[in-house]
Amino acid sequence: MEIKTVRGVEDIIPPKSEKFEKIVETFKNTVHLCGFKKVILPTFENIALFTRSVGETTDIVQKEMYLFEDRGGRKIALRPEGTASAVRAYIQHGIYAKEPFTKWFYIGPMFRYERPQAGRNRQFYQAGCEIFGISSPGSDAELIKMAAKILENLEIDFTLEINSIGCNSCRPNYKTALINHLSSEKENLCQDCKNRLDGNPLRVLDCKNKNCKKVVKNVPIITDYLCDKCKNHFEKVIELLKTLEVKFSLNPFMVRGLDYYTKTVFEFKSKNLGAQSTILAGGRYDNLIKELGGQETPALGFAMGIERIMLLIEKSEKNRNGVFISTFGEKGYLEGLKTAEILRNRNIYTEIDHRQGSFKSQFKTANRLNMKHVVIIGDEEVENRFYSFKCLETGKQERIESLAELIARI
Ligand SMILES: [Zn+2]
Ligand SMILES: [Zn+2]
Repeated sequence: MEIKTVRGVEDIIPPKSEKFEKIVETFKNTVHLCGFKKVILPTFENIALFTRSVGETTDIVQKEMYLFEDRGGRKIALRPEGTASAVRAYIQHGIYAKEPFTKWFYIGPMFRYERPQAGRNRQFYQAGCEIFGISSPGSDAELIKMAAKILENLEIDFTLEINSIGCNSCRPNYKTALINHLSSEKENLCQDCKNRLDGNPLRVLDCKNKNCKKVVKNVPIITDYLCDKCKNHFEKVIELLKTLEVKFSLNPFMVRGLDYYTKTVFEFKSKNLGAQSTILAGGRYDNLIKELGGQETPALGFAMGIERIMLLIEKSEKNRNGVFISTFGEKGYLEGLKTAEILRNRNIYTEIDHRQGSFKSQFKTANRLNMKHVVIIGDEEVENRFYSFKCLETGKQERIESLAELIARI
């Protein structure tokens, strides 16, 4: 019996994989310009890393993690996100003592047991950035600007929403005000939100339930409860984003689904994805490094979902590209092999059909591969030292006398 992929995972095969590569390349080129260095992290960790960072009461930890016990009896989770591992590595290797500040990026698969839908798999890919050691609002603005740049470079239309969710000294006041308000309307909340009320009331703010959304319209707003420190930080971030000409809107109900955020949070969204509209998101997490056993170190970061962005970027370029060498006869074939080698040494994408089928079948292959040029080398061409050269875009065929001229034409 044929064995297929497990539900919720996907093979990314050509040409789709070319889009994947394009996104990764664009991401890397953009973040390199801001000094980010690659970190390669394990795909599984101790469960405790995620319960302590992402948070016990979050959907990710309660419902979505892939958990198993390894043969040594260790309790393991496949990573549901990248930040926790990056922070663990930062602490484990004592980086804070070695660098004034640290900028890391990662690219790789994450795992969440969710209902599969377009752009949302159970093994999905994220590219993310983390900055450790900078508390000033300038780094929030610079990071958000860089994220916008990545999406711009991918020619994606987006909107940006930002919010501040305060710190350990001001958020409790807001939580109290929110619980008071929500308790008075408890009967209108969904069962999930009734349960969230005591443990994680902020999550009610991003509940998708219609009735909950109605209730949320009238709740107190977090930015009215920020302490002076958080308020000044947020105002400065806003001012700097304007200076950097980043377009954004304020969304006081955005809280993000993870517990570790403090102060600035942001989401980049696309209109073209329906309800699953977030394509890149992140924020500041000034307490997490200390909570995971490190020195008190401010930090911030974001992650973008590669599959969702793949849904948004145009089908990989349909432009014709490369040289197809079509050969006839033994001498033609040998000359063709040598020519292919010369072209490839000059970084020219070159195909040669080793099956040596008929003229017609070789041209058919060249068309199916979407090649731009065909170079025909038969015994006649070898004996008289010339190339027959055809452009598949224009259909024009001509005789070319030398290799140098051929290369110039390509
Ligand atoms: Zn505060
Ligand atoms: Zn709800």
